[in-house]
Amino acid sequence: MLEIKNLHARIAEDETEILRGVDLTVNAGEVHAIMGPNGSGKSTLSYVLAGKDDYEITEGEVLFNGENMLDMDPDERAAAGMFLAFQYPIEIPGVATMEFLKTAMNAQRKARGEDVLSIPDFMKRVKAAAAHLNVSMDMLKRPLNVGFSGGEKKRAEILQMSLLEPKLCVLDETDSGLDIDALRVVSDGVNKLRSPERAMVVITHYQRLLDHIVPDVVHVLSKGKIVKTGDKDLALDLEKHGYAEYIDTAA
Ligand code: ADP
Ligand code: MG
Ligand code: MG
Repeated sequence: MLEIKNLHARIAEDETEILRGVDLTVNAGEVHAIMGPNGSGKSTLSYVLAGKDDYEITEGEVLFNGENMLDMDPDERAAAGMFLAFQYPIEIPGVATMEFLKTAMNAQRKARGEDVLSIPDFMKRVKAAAAHLNVSMDMLKRPLNVGFSGGEKKRAEILQMSLLEPKLCVLDETDSGLDIDALRVVSDGVNKLRSPERAMVVITHYQRLLDHIVPDVVHVLSKGKIVKTGDKDLALDLEKHGYAEYIDTAA
């Protein structure tokens, strides 16, 4: 589903490469975790996959279901079935969460050449997904993320993810120090959305998220490259021994 080959990237206007030859293959049905020390390029990788325009790809390719993803703009990526969740969700004062979800779903449908949803159809879907993820209707009436707790932000994000029915989900949960509530929401949400047709990439600095989301494959990213790949035991190993052996002491 996702094939990253020898990906090199830097911040536009900066010579230093942050990603220095990332190789990664993710198949449908798999959950991959990407772990690594601070500054290893985890968030950069998620931004590059999202198509954020501050980054410049200097080498390599990214294929999504065989198609060159780097040629697609962020809307096209979403229409093709990619969903990216970031560390710092945006607040949208004045826009009820419900309204935001409708706009996101209809934007995706338009990009796919589908009709927009009727209000009853939209309501039916939102209610079903909200019930499945224990999101209250009350929360959906509040402006998106404004004054939301960490757990509520994650709930809104996972709800959006489930309504867009992505093929590939990339979640960057790095450094954000998820509280227990948020951690549970993310892990329950991801586990509920696991399916043989869907792949997930969970990016995290912390092992404890992976006590709840048991990954099929674990990778260690260090200095912009994947330096080690293993199964869930690799994450436990990192928990025990830390990232010391992956940190560039010369830098
Ligand atoms: P991680 O998510 O693994 O902690 P990041 O992808 O955030 O790592 O950062 C990787 C490296 O790129 C770090 O050395 C960081 O300082 C640098 N970096 C990230 N964003 C910027 C930016 N906007 N400008 C300059 N350097 C950046
Ligand atoms: Mg960081
Ligand atoms: Mg990060």
